[in-house]
Amino acid sequence: MKYHDSIARAAALIRGSTGVYALTGAGMSTESGIPDFRSPGTGLWEKVDPIKTSSAEVLYSNPRLFYETGFARFACIAQADPNPGHFALARLEKLGFLKGLVTQNIDGLHVKAGQKKIWEVHGHLRTGYCLSCHRRYPFQELVQQVELKRLPPVCRSCSGMLRPDVVLFGDPMPELFFEASNIIGSKCELMLVVGSSLVIYPVADLPRLARRLIIINLQPTPYDHRAEVVIREKCGVVLQDLVSAVETAAETT
Ligand code: ZN
Repeated sequence: MKYHDSIARAAALIRGSTGVYALTGAGMSTESGIPDFRSPGTGLWEKVDPIKTSSAEVLYSNPRLFYETGFARFACIAQADPNPGHFALARLEKLGFLKGLVTQNIDGLHVKAGQKKIWEVHGHLRTGYCLSCHRRYPFQELVQQVELKRLPPVCRSCSGMLRPDVVLFGDPMPELFFEASNIIGSKCELMLVVGSSLVIYPVADLPRLARRLIIINLQPTPYDHRAEVVIREKCGVVLQDLVSAVETAAETT
């Protein structure tokens, strides 16, 4: 299918479905300057194994190593800004076509772009919390303490260790993942997959619950054969084109 035909087909599917949900992954944020750590070639993770530097196991057994090495990536991601793709999805929600969005990304860029109904199933970098008393802190508190070489950063109330509100390798999935999963399973007619290669479980199971799929991703995914539309382009441009196609069609009908 040619690009413009794919956009038109995807726009028609979105306009014709009542339960449209989106699932986004790392490819969504590469245009915001956040590298996709898992993409072939660009992989920072090919050189530095994240299991060794930013896993739950390292956080608990060697917090100093976690904060000296793995944490830098989080501090960098927290400064990024949303790109046109994030704004396009927020617009699709505002127009009433998108009912909710599940993201694997921890960068918080959908929230910064104004997305309302969202499940950040791998957590986010807006806050952290004390492992002893569970007091919450802005994420910047952790960043500042790390910059001052307080490793690990600690709670002002009880001196317990602070950790970011992200789901690390080895952490259990949060309750909101199961909530998202139930809603997708019961209400999702059409899932718009954006920038995810659908290889990270259990999130990669979610498209199985959707009746129909649209996939926008640079690389092939294991679900491409099941999708009604597959577009292998950069997410930002595609989402802008797609949302204006949905909007234009809505205006002319
Ligand atoms: Zn505390």
